[in-house]
Amino acid sequence: MEWKDRADVVIIGGGIVGIATAYYLARFGRHDVVVVEKGTVCSGSTGRCGAGIRAQWGTEMNCRLGIAALDIFENLDAELGMSVGLNQGGYLLIAYSDSEFENLKKGIALQNGLGIKSKTVTLSEAREICPALDASDATGFVYHARDGHADPFLTAFAYLEAAKRIGVSYHKRTECTGITVKGGRATGIDTSRGHIDADVVINCSGACSQIVAKFAGVDLPNWGERHEIMITEPVEAGVCPPMLMSFSGNYYIQQRPHGSIICGMSPAGHPQDFENKTTWQFITAMSRVLNRILPVTKEIRIVRHWAGLYDMTPDGSPIIGETDVKNFYHSTGYSGHGFMLSPIAGKVLAQQLTGNTPDIDLSVLDYRRFARGELIMEPHIT
Ligand SMILES: Cc1cc2nc3c(=O)[nH]c(=O)nc-3n(C[C@H](O)[C@H](O)[C@H](O)COP(=O)(O)OP(=O)(O)OC[C@H]3O[C@@H](n4cnc5c(N)ncnc54)[C@H](O)[C@@H]3O)c2cc1C
Repeated sequence: MEWKDRADVVIIGGGIVGIATAYYLARFGRHDVVVVEKGTVCSGSTGRCGAGIRAQWGTEMNCRLGIAALDIFENLDAELGMSVGLNQGGYLLIAYSDSEFENLKKGIALQNGLGIKSKTVTLSEAREICPALDASDATGFVYHARDGHADPFLTAFAYLEAAKRIGVSYHKRTECTGITVKGGRATGIDTSRGHIDADVVINCSGACSQIVAKFAGVDLPNWGERHEIMITEPVEAGVCPPMLMSFSGNYYIQQRPHGSIICGMSPAGHPQDFENKTTWQFITAMSRVLNRILPVTKEIRIVRHWAGLYDMTPDGSPIIGETDVKNFYHSTGYSGHGFMLSPIAGKVLAQQLTGNTPDIDLSVLDYRRFARGELIMEPHIT
């Protein structure tokens, strides 16, 4: 792709958040957008994620973002002209204590008020939704049928190809090494291939966002947290259509359309970690959980196991908006749910930057909330 040393908007980080943001900017009229990516498309967390999509959240902001993202996902194939692999088998949340079930029910009240049709289901209804489920030790179940998953590679490529058709340039193997700030304004970036002048700079560098923000003298509270995930050989299709998820049980489990089971759990203590290293401890612990919840997996093999980074914030909610450096924006800190939120986050940030009225007011996701002590603690995470 032809190198340009000037752009209207330059985006640092070409994962799903950067690509979706670039697409919507161009769609809303700002076509002169350059994305710089130090690796390749999907080489960051996007290509390593479970790709679950849900609207069942515990904060109003995440519920609004989640349902708006689902609305977009449901029409994305037609919009982008390519399949994103959306599969709506629902999310079945599983509680293992009365207090956890009560909290999930509080979530339902919030969600229903925002148009999200989540509901409690009985054990036998849960078994109808997920025929292979063994959860006789569970206290309660909550289900939302429109939730599901998409293919992260297809989604990223679909957004990227559509973005390129309307003017976006994407430079892989191009690392941002600095941000130029003049008179309190971002005016461009330095990269491993040369300087690019820009009117607006957006930090979409995922788990590296704290390092990139520092190039402009901005302190973000984000950190990288390594999460492992694995996929099995296929079992009979249809044994586990929904994403099974438990916050206290610390797992998410889902069957892919071709029959494989993909599953993950959060690391004990949530340590800060920037390496994509994998461990035997994860395989052992995860297999025990998987065999207990889905006994049908007892005699099967794991075919792949990998790790990726969550881009965490202290309250588990993203950071979206301008910083104290004018024209320097962030769309980071997705804390393990950036794939599902990327369509709406990209759309709303692009609406802000093109003079359109945003679908959702994201001002509470400003990074200054941490200094003000106004955290948006998300309870529906592990
Ligand atoms: C195991 C696992 C499971 C997950 N499951 C889910 C899930 O079920 N649902 C969900 O919604 N989310 C999930 N996530 C989270 C999801 O992957 C991320 O929130 C999402 O991919 C974030 O997208 P991003 O574009 O911000 O980050 P990334 O995809 O990491 O993209 C950021 C890009 O910035 C690039 N970059 C960094 N520094 C620079 C620089 N200096 N110059 C140029 N480029 C730079 C990186 O190379 C990277 O490609 C999961 C994550 C993991 C690890």
